[in-house]
Amino acid sequence: MNKAVFLDRDGTINIDKAYLSKVEDFKHIPGAIEGLKMLQDAGYLLIVITNQSGIARGYYSEEDFLKLNNWMLSDLKKKGIKIAKVYYCPHHPNGKIEKYKMDCNCRKPKLGMYEEAIEDFDIDLSQSFAIGDKIRDVAICEKTSCRGYLISNLEKSEVIEDVKKSLYHNVRYSADLNEAAKEIVYFIGGK
Ligand SMILES: [Zn+2]
Repeated sequence: MNKAVFLDRDGTINIDKAYLSKVEDFKHIPGAIEGLKMLQDAGYLLIVITNQSGIARGYYSEEDFLKLNNWMLSDLKKKGIKIAKVYYCPHHPNGKIEKYKMDCNCRKPKLGMYEEAIEDFDIDLSQSFAIGDKIRDVAICEKTSCRGYLISNLEKSEVIEDVKKSLYHNVRYSADLNEAAKEIVYFIGGK
């Protein structure tokens, strides 16, 4: 079995910009590349799990998303980082585009994309982590042995409150992806 880190994209790897769809708007969060590298070197599969309701809402097309996605993957590859796979949910229950308008099983906090990844890569959740800037990005931690890091530079206090009152005993707060990666690699993964 393999260990993995499930990564949210917007607000975790790149600076969150509402309904980002263009390469020129894609900016890595400082330290994110180093964090990814650290996790990769420690033997974690890097799996991106991203809600892309902008597709259902008609803000950008699935082709636009895939174009940006391919650019992101080749850019990371140049930097020595291999993403095992990117899972994305193009749906939204109130979407404007009929094809994507549905209450699907993949939009986070639902776990459809994780279930697919676990099967595709034979993942051992007890050795794996989820990292994201929203509670829904660590929802998998609620009822599984997957541990998580909730990161955010915005609404920090609210996020901390959310973590405190949440039932997710296995989710911790971290400043950013780089900090979470350090903690995973040096304090937890090494055990
Ligand atoms: Zn979906």
